[in-house]
Amino acid sequence: MNKRILISGASIAGPTLAFWLARYGFQPTVVERAPRLRAGGNGVDVRDQAIEVVERMGIMPQIRAAGADVVGMAFLDGTGRSRARMDLQGTGDEVEIMRGDLARILYEATGGDIEYIFGDSIQSLEQDADGVRVTFERGENRRFDLVIGADGIHSTVRRLVFGPESRFLKYMEHYVAFAEADPALGENRWVTAYNEPGRMAGVYRSGNHTGAKANFIFHRAEPLDYDYRDAEQHKRLLRAAFADMSWQVPELLAGAMADPDLYFDSLAQVRMPSWSAGRVALVGDAAYCASPVSGCGARLGLIGAYRLAGELAAAGGDHHLAFQRYEEDFRKAVERMQQVGPNLRLMVPKSAVGVRLRNGVARSRILDSLAGMERITRPKTADPLPDYQYRSGAA
Ligand SMILES: Cc1cc2nc3c(=O)[nH]c(=O)nc-3n(C[C@H](O)[C@H](O)[C@H](O)COP(=O)(O)OP(=O)(O)OC[C@H]3O[C@@H](n4cnc5c(N)ncnc54)[C@H](O)[C@@H]3O)c2cc1C
Repeated sequence: MNKRILISGASIAGPTLAFWLARYGFQPTVVERAPRLRAGGNGVDVRDQAIEVVERMGIMPQIRAAGADVVGMAFLDGTGRSRARMDLQGTGDEVEIMRGDLARILYEATGGDIEYIFGDSIQSLEQDADGVRVTFERGENRRFDLVIGADGIHSTVRRLVFGPESRFLKYMEHYVAFAEADPALGENRWVTAYNEPGRMAGVYRSGNHTGAKANFIFHRAEPLDYDYRDAEQHKRLLRAAFADMSWQVPELLAGAMADPDLYFDSLAQVRMPSWSAGRVALVGDAAYCASPVSGCGARLGLIGAYRLAGELAAAGGDHHLAFQRYEEDFRKAVERMQQVGPNLRLMVPKSAVGVRLRNGVARSRILDSLAGMERITRPKTADPLPDYQYRSGAA
């Protein structure tokens, strides 16, 4: 049996995968490039099959307790006056949670049993018939039976094994940033947002959290040339894109500049013809990022990790069979989740007329009805979620 499994990335997919692999008797090790768990990010959705995954992990009470209680989104004008409001309340069977809180809960659920290495990264991978020889940027070389990349949209494992990311990233003509914000700049239980053509700045303020998050999106037809790991460059790009914007944007920018966990990236999706090669496979954003505007990233990470671990258990560690089944069963659902619809156009209209039109539509409550309809007709991730514990005979 392929027991020793190295997972690259400790965010959502990585710790979920580690949890289930350990439950099935494998020995996962998780390596995370950051020196500690990354706390950044806005609210993310846990819903449909992802709810079942976290319930089976026994962490639903913690997730509900940490859940955000935002009720809607208000579109403001430059003086801060509300021009339109949109209901964002779900059906009650889903939870919105700050990404950092979800990562922490998942990490704590694996605490004790699993080896975590922070502040390091895989440098090279060499596969042979019996395993994978891994060199690290800092630590000693080691051998593992399998390696899984859960290291996000700019996955190192994907680059080392499948090739440069330009082959797999589908750029969506926008950049996004999330950062800490002064809660006084937001409105209790609302996302407040101000648009100018091609850009949006907003505040996400949950009523049961002491802090708040600033979010920024701006349009760029062509990708910017920058280093996605250079935080100082991120700050410069963000400042340049928003420096002349009114409302409370100067204050939000100042908060973002001071935030060591500022998250800045292009909006992009990952599309790959295959998620595995030999003894290496990918999970979550590394394999099939749907982008933050899809609202599906956390869900795909949770479900994908659950399925990958389950298939390995069900196949008795036979990675050929397991990787094939993981992909066969999950690919169609992923493709559906990657269809983001009009979200981006509604959030970031490209003209002043577009902004007025969107506000008019939001005032008429059409968006509420559309959001309600979308909640009812939203494609399910797959049906039903397999019960691998039963199939694998694990405890
Ligand atoms: C800081 C942060 C904030 C985010 N905020 C939002 C948000 O507000 N809204 C939203 O929809 N999505 C957000 N995302 C993306 C979201 O977490 C994912 O879409 C989804 O949850 C799937 O998660 P994942 O674990 O596959 O990938 P990710 O969450 O992207 O995590 C990848 C992890 O791998 C680590 N990593 C990267 N390279 C290496 C390497 N070479 N070696 C080891 N580790 C590595 C990263 O530091 C990170 O911890 C954010 C991601 C991060 C990292």
